Amino acid sequence: MTKNELKERVYAAIDRRAEEIVRLGERIRKHPELGFKEVKTARLIEETLAGIGLKPKTGLALTGVRAEAPGRAGDGPTFALLGELDALVVAGHPDGDPATGAAHACGHNAQVAALMGAAMGLLDARAFDALSGRVVFFAVPAEEYGDIEWRVAQARAGKLEFLGGKPELLRLGHFDDVDLSMMIHLTSRPEDGKTGVPASNNGCIVKTIRYVGRASHAGGAPHMGINALYAAQVGLTAVNAIRETFRDEDTIRVHPIITHGGSQVNVIPGEVRLETYVRGRTVDAILDAQKKVDRAFKAGALALGAKVEIETLPGYMPMACDQTMARHHEANAGALVGAEHYRQIGHRTGSTDMGDLSMVMPILHPYVGGATGSGHGADYKIVDPQLAYVTNAKALAAMAVDMLADGATGAREVLKAAKPPMTREQYLAFQRGLARRETYEG
Ligand SMILES: [Zn+2]
Ligand SMILES: [Zn+2]
Repeated sequence: MTKNELKERVYAAIDRRAEEIVRLGERIRKHPELGFKEVKTARLIEETLAGIGLKPKTGLALTGVRAEAPGRAGDGPTFALLGELDALVVAGHPDGDPATGAAHACGHNAQVAALMGAAMGLLDARAFDALSGRVVFFAVPAEEYGDIEWRVAQARAGKLEFLGGKPELLRLGHFDDVDLSMMIHLTSRPEDGKTGVPASNNGCIVKTIRYVGRASHAGGAPHMGINALYAAQVGLTAVNAIRETFRDEDTIRVHPIITHGGSQVNVIPGEVRLETYVRGRTVDAILDAQKKVDRAFKAGALALGAKVEIETLPGYMPMACDQTMARHHEANAGALVGAEHYRQIGHRTGSTDMGDLSMVMPILHPYVGGATGSGHGADYKIVDPQLAYVTNAKALAAMAVDMLADGATGAREVLKAAKPPMTREQYLAFQRGLARRETYEG
């Protein structure tokens, strides 16, 4: 059987399960959970994988779920297909969980449904008879790097070290036996076409900033206080003033939020907390920008005579997609959505922890359409479930065939040409080296 014949069999098997795959994606969409807390979603994935005869391992980096299916046509590389479990808090999203605010405003529910669909299709079509090596089906936690105070508390309690899902899974060794990997992210941008592969994505580091002033009576004795909120305001203004020094080609993004602005209105704020990312196209650009950002935040403390504590946390590495895998995806897209709907996407200024995997192995992170509205926005919604869930599943499964059929020649070709910039040990050492806590007394 040729690869294309095998793919057609898998596509037909996925089509037979289409309703089930869409239902799964919609069910996850209606039960959004934040990163490292995706308990219900993880249980659903565990049940689904067990239901098709796999033996999932659970609780990986708190909530990750992983199952393997060996090919029966000989030894070969291990190819991981991924789907992200988590949602994020977006004010005003109509599907937001009333208790947590979590909403699937980034479409990760579609990734997980597609991952399950790919597993179903490959197993139903008995594709593993013709594949070498192994496929790992891996539902991974916490791509959205938020909810930071809770995550830092987990780290202090020894339950996490890295605060993003894939870095933590890498640390724990759950990718040690994986040679190459892929996931497909939803997109709502019309310019991305029905599917496309980005040239690259920004990386980021993450900071928490805590201004400490002195509380006092806001009416009776403001002169006795040190206003931490005004210190923060000066810091934010200084951050905005340095933006003109960022070069366009570095695509720096700095977007702080205030997470705690004061204790109550008749008290001069004695403590104010902020969080920010510093994103950029290259590690050097990020490191250069973060120095300026730290300096700007210190300016607020200096102006008011307050203290500022800046904690720098490792974030996500810039991402580069493997070009050999990208060519396979482009060919598959031609068959699935029509070549005219495929896009070579340029640099994207968001960040993803697929970037971290791209440091240590060849990866592919295409986008697929089917959503409208603004990513991370209250109007984000899936409008083409067939494309978002079912075609997405087919594209994942097709890559498993491309990589592992014919004695896994596809995967071997990728691995031969790929030059990941770091070993796994170098990656962990680099990320750990970014972590820093600094106190500045103004
Ligand atoms: Zn997102
Ligand atoms: Zn996302």
